[in-house]
Amino acid sequence: MTTLPIKGGNAPSPLVGEGLGEGCFCINTLMTDLKQPIVEIRNLTKSYRRGIQVIPVLENINFDIPEGEFLALMGPSGSGKSTLLNLIAGIDKTDTGTVMVGGLDITSMTETELARWRATNVGFIFQFYNLIPVLTAFENVELPLLLTWLSRKERREHVEMALQMVGLSDRMDHYPSQLSGGQQQRVAIARAIVTDPTLLVADEPTGDLDRISAEEILELMARLNREFGKTIIMVTHDPHAAERAHIIRKLEKGILNAHSQTHL
Ligand code: ADP
Ligand code: MG
Repeated sequence: MTTLPIKGGNAPSPLVGEGLGEGCFCINTLMTDLKQPIVEIRNLTKSYRRGIQVIPVLENINFDIPEGEFLALMGPSGSGKSTLLNLIAGIDKTDTGTVMVGGLDITSMTETELARWRATNVGFIFQFYNLIPVLTAFENVELPLLLTWLSRKERREHVEMALQMVGLSDRMDHYPSQLSGGQQQRVAIARAIVTDPTLLVADEPTGDLDRISAEEILELMARLNREFGKTIIMVTHDPHAAERAHIIRKLEKGILNAHSQTHL
């Protein structure tokens, strides 16, 4: 698997050796060798409770995502797409069933273990970018690295590399309000990849963008998948965006459509 340049090409980088990505690196290597699915979901059920009311959302979901895949998750509003994405990313807890990511059962982790796991294994891209308005592009991208043991100098190198990858080296000192929607989403993508995570999850990443900016974001995501082997799971209701993915899965009324459309 091609590593992101932020890992320093073939040379072991601080991201690998000093705590941040140790587990992640081993898993990536192992997964590449064995070609196992990176995500394995078994008998997953999820409902929300509001008072005495139970709202069933996902029913007995079973599916695998091979490593290096670019998958689009579609379905009508309210069908549970964000819920499923959040369960795969370890933001939410299942009622029953298991979610294995990179061979680890994330459903059996404690909150603390899960938070640590998320910090190095999952990069999040949201519809509304979720950048901190009082921080510059540089500082926003640096945030996930503050949870690591990297030195200030190493953090700077990684942030600069991530911003360079999304084509925003010249906007490092800009605040989100000084950037267009498309540029803000590119900053968010830089923040998502700065730790070189195993998985990139994106929830309607082009939902708030004009056509041209949306294209740029989709091309960037396709490139991260193609050139750097990143596994991407993208929720979208836009068929045009979904066409960039290799596999499309559809959720309807809490059930995952068994039919998958392969574009490649
Ligand atoms: P989608 O992303 O496909 O639009 P969601 O996963 O956001 O769907 O939501 C699926 C269903 O779960 C909806 O009926 C929604 O109202 C409900 N839901 C989502 N989050 C919560 C929550 N925190 N509490 C209660 N119900 C929720
Ligand atoms: Mg949603």
